[in-house]
Amino acid sequence: MVKPTPSRFNPDLLARDSTQYSVTLPLGQFSRLQEFLLDDSGELNATFRFSRRKKSVLVAGTLKTSYRLECQRCLEPMQADIDEPFEFVFTKSLEEAQALPDTSPDPVVLDENGQIHVVDLFEDELILHLPTVARHEQIEECEASGHVLFIDAAQAESMDGAPEPLIGQQEQSEQKQSDSKGERKNPFDVLKNLDLH
Ligand SMILES: [Zn+2]
Repeated sequence: MVKPTPSRFNPDLLARDSTQYSVTLPLGQFSRLQEFLLDDSGELNATFRFSRRKKSVLVAGTLKTSYRLECQRCLEPMQADIDEPFEFVFTKSLEEAQALPDTSPDPVVLDENGQIHVVDLFEDELILHLPTVARHEQIEECEASGHVLFIDAAQAESMDGAPEPLIGQQEQSEQKQSDSKGERKNPFDVLKNLDLH
């Protein structure tokens, strides 16, 4: 049986049986996460169970969402799909959270009433799963926007005149960048050739 999650709850009460909970929330409700997204489309879907370990209450499950971001290669919108497990341990205070051993699941600090809002439960985790560099997975998707072919062709030409196959490997494009740096002309070479006398 799957129960909907109350928007604010006391984990201690929900850990009394092994009920599975689910929640669906519009990403627009996560104000800190919103700063990283193109718009407020998309939603979080999570399913989880509460449990006890010694004196602690834990929650574990999976979260799914899709972020709408700006591709840093072609500057067009893209989707990043997330499907990740999570596990948190609830603590009564920041001090208690800081005293947890390194092996502990990530802490979630409860409010003074021993409660947590479901948005606060997931917001840090959602921010954590943002891609470090947002890019279309396949370069073909970037090329479809019409921007990337132009940039890559210009880069290839400035290198050695022999166009290389346009393969969307990150390593390859970094290699290209460092190569072109190495071959960059010294601007003072131009001055040498000027007849100043
Ligand atoms: Zn792209």
